[in-house]
Amino acid sequence: MNKLVLTPAQVQQIEAEGAQTYPNECCGIMIGRDVSDGACTRRIVERLEPMENVFDPQQRKRRFAVDPLALMKAEKSASADGKLVLGFYHSHPDHPARPSEFDREHAWPFYSYVIVSIAQGEPVDMTSWLLDDQTETFSRQDIEQD
Ligand SMILES: [Zn+2]
Repeated sequence: MNKLVLTPAQVQQIEAEGAQTYPNECCGIMIGRDVSDGACTRRIVERLEPMENVFDPQQRKRRFAVDPLALMKAEKSASADGKLVLGFYHSHPDHPARPSEFDREHAWPFYSYVIVSIAQGEPVDMTSWLLDDQTETFSRQDIEQD
């Protein structure tokens, strides 16, 4: 069992970024730590780092890409603080909060993928997903607001 823990302020920040970049996709990374107690891992997000969507401008309504160099820098500064990049968040403008085939093909195991659905500029739903590296499919990850 693996849960993602977000503060209400972090949830609001992801929703606000999704609304601001609408009708394009926003994206960013989540930094924090994994806390295990027995069978349960709580993935505690400590900060969000908004990233520029560097995908081809014509396709930013349906796609996002994080600059690999910016991601590398974030990984380095997180690990210097004894923290991890836990995953990514992005928005789905006028689409459900479910991973697209593109999302699946570009996902890595380990990371949490948070998707916020933005309908007509308003946040309506938020989900988190983990890729199973055996089956290469996504499964839902519970989000706990704390
Ligand atoms: Zn997506």
